[in-house]
Amino acid sequence: MEVTWGETRVVLVLGDITEQDTEAIVNAANSSLLGGGGVDGAIHRAAGPKLHEECLAIRARQGGCPTGEAVITSGGNLRARYVIHAVGPIWHGGHAGEADLLRRAYTNSLRLAKEHGIKSIAFPSISTGAYRFPIAQAARIALSAIRAFAEANPGALAEVRMVLYSPADFRVYEDALRQELAQQAQ
Ligand code: ADP
Repeated sequence: MEVTWGETRVVLVLGDITEQDTEAIVNAANSSLLGGGGVDGAIHRAAGPKLHEECLAIRARQGGCPTGEAVITSGGNLRARYVIHAVGPIWHGGHAGEADLLRRAYTNSLRLAKEHGIKSIAFPSISTGAYRFPIAQAARIALSAIRAFAEANPGALAEVRMVLYSPADFRVYEDALRQELAQQAQ
C-alpha cells in the first residue's frame, strides 16, 4: 500500500528493516544508545561493531540521546548508508506526553535525514515493542507526522518506507493509513 504526500512516496512494507535498500534506516534506540533487544539488537548485529563505536562516540560527546530526539551514524555493514537512532517513549498509560514524544521521534528523524541530503528512509514501528505503546495509536501518529513533514518539505524525501515486522502490525498500519487518507479528504 502506498500514497504520495507532497512529493514524497510513503510505502508500507512487511519485512525486516535490516535488509532495506533505502539510504537510511531508523533504529528504535534507547536513550543510552548502548543497544538493546528487538529491532535495535537486529540492526547492531547486521551493521557490525562500527555502529556501536560510533554510538559510543556520540555518548562521549553528548551523553546519550533524549527521548523524542534522534542521532545519526553510518550504516556499517548494512545496505543503508546511514542509521538514524531515534528514541521513542516508553508507554506509561498515555498521560506522560507519550504521543507528543513519539511524534517528535519521527519528525526529528525526518529532519536529520533532510539535513544530510538523504532521499529515502525506512522506519520500524517505534515504541510498539518493548516500550508497549499501543500500536493503533502509534501508527496514526507515525503516519500523520510523516504526512506533515512531507507536505511541509516538498523535495526533501523521495520515499519514506514503514517496515512492519508482522502481518498483524502491517494490517494495523494499513488501517491507520486509510484513516489518515479519509481525514485528508475531509
Ligand atoms: P521499542 O523499544 O521502541 O518498543 P522494539 O525493538 O522492542 O522497540 O520494537 C519496535 C518494533 O520493531 C516492534 O513492532 C517489533 O516487532 C519490530 N521489529 C523487531 N525486529 C525488527 C526488524 N528486524 N525489522 C523491522 N521491525 C522489527
